[in-house]
Amino acid sequence: MRDILPPESARWRQFVATFASLVTDAGYGQVIPPLLEDIGVFSRLGEATDVVTKEMYDFTDKGGRHVALRPEQTASVCRAFVEHRPALPFKAWYAGSNFRYEKPQRGRYRQFDQVGVEVLGSDDAHVDVEVIALAWDFFASLGLQRVELVINSLGEPADRATYTSSVDQYLRSRFDELTAESRLTLERNPLRVLDSKRPPDADVIAGAPNIADYWSPEARTHFERVCDGLTTLHIPFVIDSRLVRGLDYYRRTTFEFRGGTLDSAQNALGGGGRYDGLVEDLGGPATPGVGFALGLDRTLLACDDEGVFGAQAHEPFAFVIDTTDGTHAMAITTALRRFGVPADRAFDGRSMKSQMKVADRSGAALAIIIGSDEAERSQALLRDLRSGGEQVVVSLSDVVATVATRFESQMNTGAQ
Ligand code: AMP
Repeated sequence: MRDILPPESARWRQFVATFASLVTDAGYGQVIPPLLEDIGVFSRLGEATDVVTKEMYDFTDKGGRHVALRPEQTASVCRAFVEHRPALPFKAWYAGSNFRYEKPQRGRYRQFDQVGVEVLGSDDAHVDVEVIALAWDFFASLGLQRVELVINSLGEPADRATYTSSVDQYLRSRFDELTAESRLTLERNPLRVLDSKRPPDADVIAGAPNIADYWSPEARTHFERVCDGLTTLHIPFVIDSRLVRGLDYYRRTTFEFRGGTLDSAQNALGGGGRYDGLVEDLGGPATPGVGFALGLDRTLLACDDEGVFGAQAHEPFAFVIDTTDGTHAMAITTALRRFGVPADRAFDGRSMKSQMKVADRSGAALAIIIGSDEAERSQALLRDLRSGGEQVVVSLSDVVATVATRFESQMNTGAQ
């Protein structure tokens, strides 16, 4: 778990703000689920899922309830849907931290942030296309260019079940060639073996049955409609019949976004798919759903690698230097802030020289200087810190209005 300090923290906020604006414009409303839920909400994600069996931060609270810090938010959104029954289709977005007891490394943390959407109540393939297009456009709005979209269909639940038993049989027939890790995975969840990136498993995986051969006509039609939609929207994609993804509840469409600059073990920037039965498992009516979650931490690493979406320092417009007792600085900064002008000051009655240094370092465009001479004459000096120190004298009673006007005209010309 990490501390996020400025200016990185501002970049996080900007990341979420960019996402929020994109999805709210598309009709999604924010859900803010609690960080902690009854363990039952997450155990429904599937007993064969690592996230549930090995990585959960769960404990018994003082009231004797078995609870867990959320490892993801799809289950929470579905639980909230069941509890509040909003109108369908329910188009929700979320942002926030999740917790998984994983082995920390670059791009993999025990507390990590995600943004995501879920659409409940429609099994139209165009909803799948809509959510994929939103994620795609979001990556583009960050400036990322090396993102690859990989999609697959797991078929209907019955197709998936038949396919799973064929994969199970096949992998058992080549059990001796699998790595020890994959043998263990096979016991719990045969499909997850197909995710293995370990070289000795690759040959075995290459010969595994192909999910496409197991699709029912309905599943095939749905998948084709998704692919056609993406083509119409000029969103490039690669079909990968081995893409099964971690959670057990997926059916039909699954997809993943991979960052071209990241190590293959950590290159998934996000992913999602269509899920079935989750709302029902949580006590609601049978309700189709589709959604995705994008990892903030990892997507920002991809942005670093591509040199896009950099941290932007937030500079004050005005910096007040007051070498009297600081009262002018207090009054002027507060008044400026009330006018919406970013303003800052120094404390502790420092010397003129030391306050000038702080003003320069702050990146402010303008210094408002009040030394004892100016204070005596009820004046202030305005010094342009960016164009070589040009200076004007204004009366103290006019200083706030003058600076506010300058700020406005800079904003209007976009010169700041
Ligand atoms: P998942 O909820 O497992 O489908 O993950 C969706 C996305 O969340 C992944 O593609 C990653 O970008 C991100 N993610 C998942 N687990 C972690 C983690 N432990 N640390 C950082 N990012 C993660």
